[in-house]
Amino acid sequence: MALQTLILYMCLATNGVDEPLNCTEINSAWVPFENKTLGAAINFNPHDLTILINKKLAHPEIPLEYLLGVITHELAHLKSFKSGTSDGHGPRFVSTCMKMSTAIGLDGRSCAAVYKDKTEPTSQ
Ligand SMILES: [Zn+2]
Repeated sequence: MALQTLILYMCLATNGVDEPLNCTEINSAWVPFENKTLGAAINFNPHDLTILINKKLAHPEIPLEYLLGVITHELAHLKSFKSGTSDGHGPRFVSTCMKMSTAIGLDGRSCAAVYKDKTEPTSQ
């Protein structure tokens, strides 16, 4: 699956929420994480935004909504980083992630605390 295209689409579709991103400049890669990490958002600097997604989520048995939820979660982290007010998985992050989910018709499950242990963003 063309992850880059999926992320570009999700980014553009949610870019009206809070901090806008330069959607065409987000790098991405499928990664064979050994642990239960579903995804990670990394900003090496303001011009180098990267989203890594667990390769297992490309499996046909994984519902597309699940993968889209993880991407939304990671995009919400990038927005937090860019705004300079990242609170990890705190209230501001959840608020942004929920608004993004609503904008694209997802239930927002990926924003909930249950993902907290599974998704480890690397900030700065
Ligand atoms: Zn996270």
